[in-house]
Amino acid sequence: MGVKTFEFSVSTKAGTDIIDITGQVQNIVNDSGIKEGHALVFVPGSTAGITTIEYEPGLLKDYPEFMEKIIPSGIRYHHDDTWHDGNGHSHVRAALQGASFVVPFTNANLLLGTWQQIILIDFDNRGRNRRVIVQIQGE
Ligand code: ZN
Repeated sequence: MGVKTFEFSVSTKAGTDIIDITGQVQNIVNDSGIKEGHALVFVPGSTAGITTIEYEPGLLKDYPEFMEKIIPSGIRYHHDDTWHDGNGHSHVRAALQGASFVVPFTNANLLLGTWQQIILIDFDNRGRNRRVIVQIQGE
């Protein structure tokens, strides 16, 4: 069993920006030389998250609309008393979403469903350059 750690970066826009990172993760698995195992995909930072979705235009609207419904952007958050950065909702959304996702692979192919892509969601109220960590464990 070996462990290898990789990273790449993506630039994001303000708001609930959703980026398909499936290709980057698959490329890292290919480059790792590890055939059987799993990949831990993690985003450092407290205003972004990682999950999977069917990356199609409808859901790219549904997901942000759902977040706006359960964690609205236009209300008062105590976080803004601390830093005055206006992104209390971004932190709460990120905490609910989670910062990582684990996906198994075999023969160096991610075992994702056909309509299942790995996404990074940036909840912050400004564009960012996000590092994504991919830690591969297997043999
Ligand atoms: Zn903040």
